Amino acid sequence: MSEIHTGGCQCGAVRFRLEGAPKDASICHCRMCQKAFGSFFAPLVSVGEATLTWTRGRPRYFPSSNHVLRGFCDNCGTPLCYEAPDGVGLAIGAFDEPQRLPPTVQFGVEAKIDFVDHLHELPERVTEDDLEAAPFLTDIVTFQHPDHDTVDWTPKEALAAEPWRPKEEGV
Ligand SMILES: [Zn+2]
Ligand SMILES: [Zn+2]
Repeated sequence: MSEIHTGGCQCGAVRFRLEGAPKDASICHCRMCQKAFGSFFAPLVSVGEATLTWTRGRPRYFPSSNHVLRGFCDNCGTPLCYEAPDGVGLAIGAFDEPQRLPPTVQFGVEAKIDFVDHLHELPERVTEDDLEAAPFLTDIVTFQHPDHDTVDWTPKEALAAEPWRPKEEGV
């Protein structure tokens, strides 16, 4: 049986399945990847010879240049893929098991943000450390799709809870 990977966006509107071994798991520091992911760098893995199937929904695309499309969920905004003439890359963090795709190379290092080399030196905290400062975390109800395929994704508990909204100005 060939290797299977699944994943999708945060809200679950878009899900994908990869059959076969993807290749060249990487992080890209280029400025376009920073913007597309809203992050310090983009973690991407190439589909390569594996077979990619969008099993629920489809990404929406923004052409970041004349050669590249950036795919994302148009419901929740999760970055999902990078499509170019040389192939398709999928966002590693969107996989159900990103730990199975450790990056092996860094691209675009000319644009690397200096402090990225020191992230591992930062003080570390677990979520429980912050409960006093953020007591709302104790009764949090996640609206995030679980890290596995679902037949019929209806976030029942999520629908029962009232989503938090920022206070409107002047109210
Ligand atoms: Zn989504
Ligand atoms: Zn890049």
